[in-house]
Amino acid sequence: MVPEGPRVRLNVPLLDRDEAEAVERVLESGFLTQGPRAAEFESLVASQVGTSHAFAVSSATTGLHLTLDALGVRAGDEVVIPDFSFPATANAVVQLGAVPVFVDIDIETFNMDPALVEAAVTERTKAIMPVHAFGLTADMEPINAIADRLGLPVLEDAACALTATYHGRQAGSLATAGVFSFHPRKIITTGEGGMITTNDGALADRLRVLRTHGAVRGELYMDFIDAGYNYRLSDVHAAIGIAQMGKLHTIFEARQRLAAELGSLLADVASVRAPIVPDGYTHSFQSYVVLLDDDIDRDRVIVEMKRRDIETTLGTYSMHLQPYFRGRFSIDDEALPHATRAHRQALTLPLYPQLRTADLELIVERLVEAIAASGARSS
Ligand SMILES: *Cc1c(COP(=O)(O)O)cnc(C)c1O
Repeated sequence: MVPEGPRVRLNVPLLDRDEAEAVERVLESGFLTQGPRAAEFESLVASQVGTSHAFAVSSATTGLHLTLDALGVRAGDEVVIPDFSFPATANAVVQLGAVPVFVDIDIETFNMDPALVEAAVTERTKAIMPVHAFGLTADMEPINAIADRLGLPVLEDAACALTATYHGRQAGSLATAGVFSFHPRKIITTGEGGMITTNDGALADRLRVLRTHGAVRGELYMDFIDAGYNYRLSDVHAAIGIAQMGKLHTIFEARQRLAAELGSLLADVASVRAPIVPDGYTHSFQSYVVLLDDDIDRDRVIVEMKRRDIETTLGTYSMHLQPYFRGRFSIDDEALPHATRAHRQALTLPLYPQLRTADLELIVERLVEAIAASGARSS
């Protein structure tokens, strides 16, 4: 069932009585903070991703902040990230007093261009944080190779990438650690929530302590060994996550099938480039993001689609263009040409399991109309 609003919404989480009943059971148990449901949710995600540890957190943003802290990122350090991402990626770096160093993307995949990573590294670099754009993993082999050579940890911003794979391995298991989001726009949701995955036992010990106030449990009370956070996920949220994990395979299959259908419908639309999935990758299709020809006014297309009752949005943000980062770092667009282009020309189309073939046909039909109605770019 697609709720009230535009005829075709951008994303609708797949929820039913399972989630409601799971929450009810937690409320009846009286144990509401991080507890047995969070532990169960962690073990489900760890086994899906294939890591030995998973830590439920209150969001992907807090998960990134916590992990960067646990990796030793401090004031004045630098973290290498792609320029094209939801700004939470860079905010987590800034919140530690560190400096995000923006790298351009490969316009084909929307992911950080590995060929540009090494030049972005300085003696102040403390970590490399690739993003798996829209659920397509970054090209991790060359990034890991550079990091190994320089002795740097690699943190995957896997916010969109649950179920994505890279040469047969799941996103979140491809580097030092990974962070997923369970915001309602992502593959599964807990309302707000996130998960850190890692195989690194020493990092896991630091994450565990820092997630809960920097506290270690003693026999009678706790010892506070660090100035930690409260970034826990409540059992209320975790119970929703467990129910959602039961739907993960259905969600994955539906997104694959619908993305393939949408791709073949778009093959006839010359001015629109469908998402590219290189060999050896499985895209999670958290977002189905197309690239419009440069002479199309993408913002007008969003408006024309809205008038036709179909919700679309930009792909994501070129962070150096955002007022805060522009003001602080004033990076020229010419230094990041592909991210700048993607910021202007990428368009997210609706894609989620509840859509039918007829909805996809309608989306493409309306898109062709919207492009025609939007006219050519004036500047
Ligand atoms: C959604 C998203 C985030 C933030 O996730 P929250 O759980 O909302 O904090 C971070 N990075 C990327 C790439 C995202 O898409």
